[in-house]
Amino acid sequence: MNLDFHELKKGGFIKQQGRDLFLMRLRTIGGYLTSRDLENIARIAAKYGRGEVHLTTRQGVEIPGVRLEKYQELIAEIKALHLLPGACGPRVRSIVACPGKEICSNGVVDTRAIAGKLDRAFFGRDVPVKLKIAVAGCYNACTKPMENDIGLRGVVYPELAAERCSLCGLCQSICPGGAIKIINDRVSIDKKRCNGDGACIASCPNNAWVMAATGFVVYVGGKMGRNPQLGYKMFDLVPEDDIVPLINSILAVYEEKRKGQERLGDVVRRLGPEVFRELIPYPGRKEVAAGGGN
Ligand code: SF4
Ligand code: SF4
Repeated sequence: MNLDFHELKKGGFIKQQGRDLFLMRLRTIGGYLTSRDLENIARIAAKYGRGEVHLTTRQGVEIPGVRLEKYQELIAEIKALHLLPGACGPRVRSIVACPGKEICSNGVVDTRAIAGKLDRAFFGRDVPVKLKIAVAGCYNACTKPMENDIGLRGVVYPELAAERCSLCGLCQSICPGGAIKIINDRVSIDKKRCNGDGACIASCPNNAWVMAATGFVVYVGGKMGRNPQLGYKMFDLVPEDDIVPLINSILAVYEEKRKGQERLGDVVRRLGPEVFRELIPYPGRKEVAAGGGN
């Protein structure tokens, strides 16, 4: 069989240890698999592999121990079962997302919806070096968006309906950023200290804090590996509908400014995060200190 290993890698069929042995990488969208998917994966792992799977750090599933001669048959079966192949090599990898507000009580944004949009827009796109995207549904950042080339973190900013407030003091005591103060029987919020976690909205017994705006903080340039660095917080409160065009703009600037095989984070660091940010034609930007993480 005359097969190009680089092409196979592109479709998630990756050489592993051992002569003629490969693993088949499948991706998920935001970590979800149906019970039917699980049954099908178990069946093909037994049929083509060695009856086990490996769960990847990017919410994927790998089936190890597949013989090269079974490639065509396996790929046809994966397609027929509507399972999603993963990717390897210099391309946009599978999108990682936490459960977000659909399931997690801390979630302030719909991570599943944005993960689906990002998968359709970017998964598998050829880029100079691997590029990773992660989405977190709140300030806790469980999916570590700042460790990805592009990371999104949901935020919600509150507004006070003062007529409903009974001055119980709960929001002041629970606000993680210490943004809320009650002085002279008045509740006030320091917006610069608000981290957008929505704790006040979720906890006020009188529903006096209401959602004023929701969107995503966008980090750019994070990476792990040999030379780890945290992504730079570049944009705040980006509406869901602006995320795909914004990432397209980031990738266009990356392509224009990169030297050779630099990763996105290397380009951002070399140019300086403020300079890089200024090159992105995103009109809705907010002034956010670019400092790596936060
Ligand atoms: S990042 Fe927030 S919403 Fe997502 S799983 Fe963690 S706590 Fe829940
Ligand atoms: S938790 Fe609600 S009622 Fe209590 S002080 Fe804060 S805004 Fe007022």
